[in-house]
Amino acid sequence: MTIFDTDIKKLYGVGAARASHYASLGIYSVGDLLCHYPRGYEDRGNVKLLCEADGETKYAHLLTVATVPKSVRVKGRITLTKFRVYDDSASCEITFFNQDYLKNVFTLGSTFRFYGKVEKKAGRYTMTSPAYEPYIEGKELLPLVPVYPLTEGITQKQIAKDVSAAMTLAATMGEGDTLPDDIRHRNRLCTLSYAMRNIHMPESFSALAAAKKRLIFDEFFSFALGISMAGAKSRLAPAFACERSDLRPLESVLPYSLTGAQKRVVGEIESDMSRDTAMSRMVIGDVGSGKTVCAAAAMLFAVQNGRQAVLMAPTEILARQHYESLSKIFDNLGMRCALLVGATGAAEKRKIYAALSDEGDGRLDIVIGTHALLSDGVAFAAPGVVVVDEQHRFGVGQRATLAEKNPMCHVLVMSATPIPRSLALALYGDLDISSLDEIPPGRQQVDTFVVDEGYRERLNGFIEKQVADGGQVYVVCPAVEENQVDEEEEANILLCDVGIEGDLLYDCETPIKLKSAVKFSEELAARFPNLSVDFLHGKLKSREKEEKMAAFVDGRTDILVSTTVIEVGVNVPNASLMIVENAERFGLSQLHQLRGRVGRGSRKSYCVLVSDVASKEGKAKERLMTMKSSHDGYEIAEKDLAMRGPGDFLRSSGEGRVRQSGGVRFRLAELCDDTGLMRVAFDEARAIIADDPELESHPELRARVDSQFTLEQNSVN
Ligand code: ADP
Ligand code: MG
Repeated sequence: MTIFDTDIKKLYGVGAARASHYASLGIYSVGDLLCHYPRGYEDRGNVKLLCEADGETKYAHLLTVATVPKSVRVKGRITLTKFRVYDDSASCEITFFNQDYLKNVFTLGSTFRFYGKVEKKAGRYTMTSPAYEPYIEGKELLPLVPVYPLTEGITQKQIAKDVSAAMTLAATMGEGDTLPDDIRHRNRLCTLSYAMRNIHMPESFSALAAAKKRLIFDEFFSFALGISMAGAKSRLAPAFACERSDLRPLESVLPYSLTGAQKRVVGEIESDMSRDTAMSRMVIGDVGSGKTVCAAAAMLFAVQNGRQAVLMAPTEILARQHYESLSKIFDNLGMRCALLVGATGAAEKRKIYAALSDEGDGRLDIVIGTHALLSDGVAFAAPGVVVVDEQHRFGVGQRATLAEKNPMCHVLVMSATPIPRSLALALYGDLDISSLDEIPPGRQQVDTFVVDEGYRERLNGFIEKQVADGGQVYVVCPAVEENQVDEEEEANILLCDVGIEGDLLYDCETPIKLKSAVKFSEELAARFPNLSVDFLHGKLKSREKEEKMAAFVDGRTDILVSTTVIEVGVNVPNASLMIVENAERFGLSQLHQLRGRVGRGSRKSYCVLVSDVASKEGKAKERLMTMKSSHDGYEIAEKDLAMRGPGDFLRSSGEGRVRQSGGVRFRLAELCDDTGLMRVAFDEARAIIADDPELESHPELRARVDSQFTLEQNSVN
């Protein structure tokens, strides 16, 4: 019995009603509650005199009650309770609403630590509904008071009280620390109980920092153990070994010669496939680095050994483009290749199914498609290699099915964007990684500009000119529908900064209007009545998305306004202008990926990043200017990591890797900006798994992994 199996209702004072409120926060067990970390802390240790208040900031004040509280009814239903308090510098009037019972709390002569904003009106100090705690000589009040994410029906005070009860219960249950002592000492981490106590009720800033460090380490460490175990497992999976492989036929039909990086990566693939354990390799490379031809080589090797190859792409358009370019190559090599997508007709599908499972001469060697490849009818007579393009676009389940359907198979996944090596090892520790770190020669550079609203009319003129010259325009917006700005539920709570706080990416002071794809496409359609404008976003049915995208590929649409769904590696050689609205909202790697959608043909191409925030000096500007100066995806990714921290990357790409269940998720690590801490956690985990792949001598860690992850059978699942 652990705290994660202990019902929240076991806590004194938590009944069915409160339990249902907790459920809406995803809190069901005592352990869940303990992992419901504060989202910030109020700095109440820094007590100020009334005369030091600035009228804007919330401060703590030690004040003594000077008059008996009086309640008056106003406007029928509202009761005001007022009384005066004082300290050595001044006196102040405090008002509460509809809390008549406070008369009995604020007794004459008693002292409280109030926390709130002191306002000065007509020379008199006032406070309205401040937070308060009784002050008793000799009994210390905590300097930092947690602020929890709330839901309706639960107050800060109740959560704090329940957390305190949960901690007592956890202590009596003897909830142990599963982190091995040597790892804890080596990395100067505090104990789990100290960390838990201080994340919820910090004794000091430094205790809080120590607590965060320990808990973030744990989150990385658990994830790393899960990933490393999955990797160890998949590397042992049996597969057919290629006895012969010859790249020359492929090279002879290509209109170009391979780059040095491509040759190296193909060599790595070849050596993996010559072994009788399954390849699980990921090719990471910049947009346009030529990943597809590496996939083609893997497919060729499989076919040369009497096996079949399958390539799965996340969208129908991408699958078609791959089919068009690859089938030409494979036809030339005398290999039989088919396309299988959702739109493929029933009769054609049946023919393909039959040809794939054919044991004789009619057998298909290669099939390229979408998740239509996962349907029940698809069965290979002799599967050899599975290639998954743009892997992050697939759900965990979809990737699992493809690998499960094809035992004894090698697996190759293609990444969408370059990611820094430190992160690649962390995120994809279960895969071997090949870096395609060289762009084929002769690529044009996409000129990049950072502008603000002041340039709107000139920008519109530029759009017109591009289209008049026969080009096409992408416009990317951050929102689907009108203005979805996430407003902080309690925006007025002042959170003190303790180092690991908030998302650096979106540090705009005032919420700004977000351009929405639907609305903006209407505006552009009105502005350019002679041009054909369309919009595209993730909430559309996939059929609709494919059709709209196809219209743009065919040149029937001049301006495509979209959310980032167009990020996927579709090739529209005619597209010459990429405009990104509210550009400060996007990660640099994402911007680089978007920019990679233009400049794919012979047309001189441009990328315009529109941002009103970035026109002011500061981080946002610095970030966007990086895009102007750098065109190297790896360099941009490194800068992005340095500016955003690894947490954001983990959130966007980590969770699909290993299915997580149970109590611990990336709660704190999401906000972590310390790549070093992530790295040591992964190094420690890898070292343990290298010695003991099943964690046999660490049953407590094994239990932790089992309770937190559903390990997958094969790396690409
Ligand atoms: P990505 O890595 O983004 O998937 P692709 O595989 O689609 O890139 O390749 C982008 C373009 O570069 C394609 O048109 C491809 O034919 C071309 N290409 C690939 N390798 C080379 C090379 N070695 N020399 C010249 N062009 C190449
Ligand atoms: Mg690609």
